[in-house]
Amino acid sequence: MLGGAPAFSEPLHVGRPSVLRPHRVLELIGGALDRRVLTHGGPLLREFERAVAAVAGVAHCVATCNATVAMQLLVRALGLRGEVVMPSWTFIATAHALQWEGLTPVFCDVDPRTGNLDPRSVAELITPRTSAIAAVHMWGVPAPAPQLTSLAREHGLRLYFDSAHAIASRCDGRPVGGHGAAEVFSFHATKLVNAFEGGAVVTGDGDLAERVRAMRDYGRNGDGTVGMLGLNAKMTEPSAAMGLASLEDLDELLALHRERHEHYAAGLCGVPGVRLRDPAPLESNRSYVVVEVDPEAAGLTRDELRAVLHAENVLARDHFHPGCHRSEPYRRAPRRHTPRSLTATEALSERVLVLPTGTSLRNEDAGRVCEVIGEAVRRAPAVRAWASSRTPAAPHR
Ligand SMILES: *Cc1c(COP(=O)(O)O)cnc(C)c1O
Repeated sequence: MLGGAPAFSEPLHVGRPSVLRPHRVLELIGGALDRRVLTHGGPLLREFERAVAAVAGVAHCVATCNATVAMQLLVRALGLRGEVVMPSWTFIATAHALQWEGLTPVFCDVDPRTGNLDPRSVAELITPRTSAIAAVHMWGVPAPAPQLTSLAREHGLRLYFDSAHAIASRCDGRPVGGHGAAEVFSFHATKLVNAFEGGAVVTGDGDLAERVRAMRDYGRNGDGTVGMLGLNAKMTEPSAAMGLASLEDLDELLALHRERHEHYAAGLCGVPGVRLRDPAPLESNRSYVVVEVDPEAAGLTRDELRAVLHAENVLARDHFHPGCHRSEPYRRAPRRHTPRSLTATEALSERVLVLPTGTSLRNEDAGRVCEVIGEAVRRAPAVRAWASSRTPAAPHR
């Protein structure tokens, strides 16, 4: 931190892919190569879809090449028009999927405790142009599905969930996946369950699933005739193989994330001004370790703490700074799309830091990261002077 070797000789990354059994992935891919079935609704894809539907507790799963395209197909299949209210506090893809489909994302604020969209803020933004609410289970913490469901019903709106972070989390007493018209998972390499790249729409609505299934395959129906406009959004067999192997290890992955989370909680307890966020310990899959920095109490800002961690080879991230409403192209959108400043979103985006976790980190590493944080806070004035004297390096992205 203030001279000497970094605490870690190799960088610790947020979202380093978890691959517990590489040989199992290769075995499944080998089967696909032997069959010469590499894509196009092969047996691995069908098995993966069955397995995802079972985890989500729903009847239908349509797997795709990624979650962003899955959301694009979903909003088409739902026939949405005009405006969709969504939280600004999310990964930019939630907004891009709408904007790319010619819809207007309207950004609401979040509950500062959970990081999830605040139903009161949603209600204030509903207009005659609104056709849907898009909720996000931020960092695996369940969004307030019951309130959103009644709000949507009251105003005649559709409701869907960007559940990219939240496979195996629970929401309102049921697994994530069965709420609203549909939910969308991501199986990107950095997510809890990974398929290299991948996504899925899960739903209890068979007609909706059929439309998404056709749209994924150039608009073709099961019999090969073209019934509608479509894209190529198919998931390949090697991706499904990775996804299946990853799902086979889901219980072990969840236990491992829980254990890392508990090590962080123990290591950070007593560090003034740096708090581990854990608003739904029993419902969240805890696949993200998120701390909130109170600059007054810690004597350091989030950015100063991040600079220290980066110097020590802990590549903590400020996801999802600065919020969609302050990112291109949305920050130039007409005022009515963000009618007032989003206080909670803006506060979170200055205060949160996502720390490395997962299979590539040992419990002792989590403990060591906490020691670095504790030491930085103890020596805050010196760290502050160090941080302000450096030529600001571009933060790792
Ligand atoms: C990762 C992520 C996405 C995008 O998923 P892809 O599969 O990479 O397209 C969407 N929303 C959120 C909240 C994400 O974290």
